[in-house]
Amino acid sequence: MRVLVGAFGHESNTFTPFLTTADDFFVRWGAETLQMPLRRSSFAGIVETLSRRGDIALVPSLTAWAMPGGVVARPAYEQFKAGILAAAQNVDGVCLALHGAMRAEGLDYCEDDLLADLRARVGQDVPITVALDMHANLIRNTMRYVDALVAYKTAPHDDAFETGQRAAQLLLQILTEGVRPCIGFAKIPFLLPGEMAQTSLDPMKSMMALVAEVERIPGVLSASLMNGHCWADVPDIGVSAVVVTDGDAALAQAQAERIAAEFWARRHEFAISAEAYDLEEAVETALAAAEPTVFLSDSGDNPGAGGSTDVPALLAALLERQVSSVLYAGMWDRDAVEACLAAGVGAEISLEIGGKLDVRHGRPLAVTGVVRSLFDGAAWRGGLRQAMGRTRIGPIAVLNVAGIDVVLSATRHSFEDPLQLRVLGLEPLDYRIVVLKRGYLTTEFARIAPRSILAFTPGCTNCRVERMEFRRVQRPMFPLD
Ligand SMILES: [Zn+2]
Repeated sequence: MRVLVGAFGHESNTFTPFLTTADDFFVRWGAETLQMPLRRSSFAGIVETLSRRGDIALVPSLTAWAMPGGVVARPAYEQFKAGILAAAQNVDGVCLALHGAMRAEGLDYCEDDLLADLRARVGQDVPITVALDMHANLIRNTMRYVDALVAYKTAPHDDAFETGQRAAQLLLQILTEGVRPCIGFAKIPFLLPGEMAQTSLDPMKSMMALVAEVERIPGVLSASLMNGHCWADVPDIGVSAVVVTDGDAALAQAQAERIAAEFWARRHEFAISAEAYDLEEAVETALAAAEPTVFLSDSGDNPGAGGSTDVPALLAALLERQVSSVLYAGMWDRDAVEACLAAGVGAEISLEIGGKLDVRHGRPLAVTGVVRSLFDGAAWRGGLRQAMGRTRIGPIAVLNVAGIDVVLSATRHSFEDPLQLRVLGLEPLDYRIVVLKRGYLTTEFARIAPRSILAFTPGCTNCRVERMEFRRVQRPMFPLD
């Protein structure tokens, strides 16, 4: 049997003031996608599961994945969609890894559009299963085009690979065991920042226990609860529950509604699960902490959810207080990096950093500092989900501004692993305060952090969603109404 496999994913933030272009995607085409699947990705889980079978021939299409950011440029979206559709010929099944929260110019629900076209291409009889991120924003209509969906069960996401395996197993069950999947779907009108829904903490922890309980019901093939990606001003947004059963539509729908009802009943319990304060109080609390190092999340400008990565508000607050022994990682500012490169290591320079892209939430910050170090941008990239390897991330400069080491990057960069700092010669635990442009810490950072505080800061990923300007979302919407 021939099975089409591929991956296409992006978490698109409609508040981000720039488009995500084709160049922002890490792309592989055709057979190349099978030679080096990313180690812990859902696509790798799909490939690993299907290629172990002697009776399956993989039909590769493409893998295209980009860091969260602004909506995808329409030509880029169409180009990658076409890559998947072109490979959808004479196949017996399809298994894709998608994110679930991609928006393109003029298109609010990219996965719906992609899967509709894919269904039209392969016909009604070819099963399609999909692995999704937990921050997928599904719409009911999409259920018409797919046979089964399964999403990550952890945030931070440590089970992408297993989710891919599960999506592939569901496809195999349909193809070889005569399973006839029915999908139950329920949506909850809730703009839920991921920072309120870490799966190791309640109430999300007990919600995921309920999901696991549903999965143990005889006849249930899988159950998923997706938080959605709340920084998108599209009409149909929110949290969704999906339950897949073998041939029992009523059971699937009843169990999806059961999960949704429980979620809705507990909606007021969803609060920032980390220790969290407004900007000023967060800084004061970090300064008063007894721990040798405190990690401070600049959560409003989190590249991991589409932040511009150039809002300097938290840096300005630290400079105002003349705090020293701070590592600030990092700021996306190509001009500033070029100025540091031109000045050279050891030079003192005055320049403006940040505040150039997200001009709504920040303005350039004038600083004088000493260029501490420069890097050519070839660095190790790793972590739970990505293959370890040398990758070019663009030049990086570390500028010491009054005792604060500011990491300036020429490309937009998301720090997800202490290794990314250590290769720059920066040991996070040597500092009193480590600022990361993140929401909750990744598992890799959480492992080493003596204490972690989330600061509500301005930017395109403000966790106080009621402070964002939503115009198009359907109302009523919790917690806006
Ligand atoms: Zn996610």
